[in-house]
Amino acid sequence: MRIAYLDRTVHETDGEPKPNGDVSAISKSIDLQGSVETGDKTTIASKDFGGLYSIKPLALIKPAGSDDISRAIKAASRIPRMTVAARGNGHSINGQAMTNRGLVIDMRSTEENHFRLLNINGSFFIDVSGGALWENVLTRCVSRFGLAPRSWTDYLSLTVGGTLSNAGVSGQAFRYGPQISNVAELEIVTGKGDITVCSETRNPELFFGSLGGLGQFGIITRARVKLQPAPDMVRWIRVVYTEFDEFTRDAEFLVSRDDGESFDYVEGFVFCNNDDPVNGWPAVPLDPVHGFNPGIIPQTGASVLYCLEVAFHYQKGDHPSTVDKAVAGLLKRLRFVEGLKSQVDLSYVEFLLRVKRAEEQAKANGIWDAPHPWLNLFISKSNIVDFDQTVFKKMVKDGIGGPMLIYPLMRSKWDNRTSVALPDSEIFYLVALLPFVSRGPSVEESVAQNREIVEWCIKEGLDFKLYLPHYQSKEGWKRHFGDQWTRFVERKASFDPMAILAPGQNIFKRTHLS
Ligand code: FAD
Repeated sequence: MRIAYLDRTVHETDGEPKPNGDVSAISKSIDLQGSVETGDKTTIASKDFGGLYSIKPLALIKPAGSDDISRAIKAASRIPRMTVAARGNGHSINGQAMTNRGLVIDMRSTEENHFRLLNINGSFFIDVSGGALWENVLTRCVSRFGLAPRSWTDYLSLTVGGTLSNAGVSGQAFRYGPQISNVAELEIVTGKGDITVCSETRNPELFFGSLGGLGQFGIITRARVKLQPAPDMVRWIRVVYTEFDEFTRDAEFLVSRDDGESFDYVEGFVFCNNDDPVNGWPAVPLDPVHGFNPGIIPQTGASVLYCLEVAFHYQKGDHPSTVDKAVAGLLKRLRFVEGLKSQVDLSYVEFLLRVKRAEEQAKANGIWDAPHPWLNLFISKSNIVDFDQTVFKKMVKDGIGGPMLIYPLMRSKWDNRTSVALPDSEIFYLVALLPFVSRGPSVEESVAQNREIVEWCIKEGLDFKLYLPHYQSKEGWKRHFGDQWTRFVERKASFDPMAILAPGQNIFKRTHLS
């Protein structure tokens, strides 16, 4: 297949000159093993899960592998102002995988590449494509080898390259770190078009820069992911708190304990103290038979309550009393409201695919495809009480029409050589406000509320960072990276000197880096 484009005239749009969109104006062509889509067939690449932006690319490239990606990047470098964006599964919120009149590389077409188990000095790793979905990595690793990656996201229809370009966090990250702490090697096509293998010891600047690097240094074509033996089963438990300080005390207690002395997964969420089907009590029970008895909630219960969500791994051969005893031993250390506990036992794979089932239901109800003005933040432990007082107890006390996640993470499990920007304190919280617009406030209201929350965090001087960042000004990016800004810009200059990888029309413009 031949990729064909582009003359050297440019358009002025949004203050940024763009290459001419006339693909028939072919000045050069290159041979690709994969295919190139243009016109209406690029529509998928002009949308994402957020549904807030629509940005049309010039072409959608479906590469067969790294060579095609290298050729596309090298060809783009010959066209003034041409940009390239990798697209994983398009589950970004703010257009991060889009590029205005540029080339979008659809990494899903490389899903099958590289899949290989390795035993290196007695430790197991899986080589997977940057375009592979984590759900496929999970099911293939468990069914074929009885092994699984150690650190996950809540939802697994995300690509390996997409989450490694951000961080990849879920309830296992307190123990193993985010997904970017669980990768031993990457193959990357840099912004110069070089196909480069990198690791902690081989091209470490490219390796660490690309982890959490927002796709700005190169395109991850292969990742070597650490594996561990997969458990058979999971006991998934939710307990409820009325007091925020008791909730955080218990969550921090659990994430600070040594391996083998805590649960295997720790998360939490905030919900409304009422019977609203989306925002209130009905969102809590895992076991629909026993439901949620609001009569047990103490009178002190405020407008919002807190749910700690934990999971305990075990094998089918374990005696039930052993599992019961271990779980009871941990639960008895916690101060949740007696009687507000719900639990189910399910297979490890079913547990990790739990949001997939929610997706299927949401699709059936027609709410999955509505816009998702989501906000993800990392907030220092030192500021989390203020955040609760102002944001949870006031700004969003009536709910947002979707989950409001909050759980602690440990900075020492993250590698500060990566590109991710974090708060300063050892314990910080992931806070995710995840509205489904058809069930809550309008898109405009949610976007305005998100802006209000971020502006409040800045005004109050909170130690916080956006997760999945999407600033629209150089000042925003500089503040985000803080003293890592220079390192980020130098890495960009080193691996993508022409700023080919500058996706997202308003997200990360070339001018932000100069
Ligand atoms: P895309 O949205 O397609 O791309 C994301 C970014 O990565 C873009 O900048 C893109 O250019 C770049 N990129 C994509 N592929 C590559 C590559 N191969 N090489 C280099 N750059 C690349 N995140 C969590 O951490 N934890 C969660 O629990 C979690 N749950 C989620 C649940 C849902 C329902 C959704 C929609 C998102 C969730 N996320 C979560 C956020 C998710 O991790 C990010 O949005 C991620 O970027 C989406 O992955 P994707 O594969 O669709 O990437």
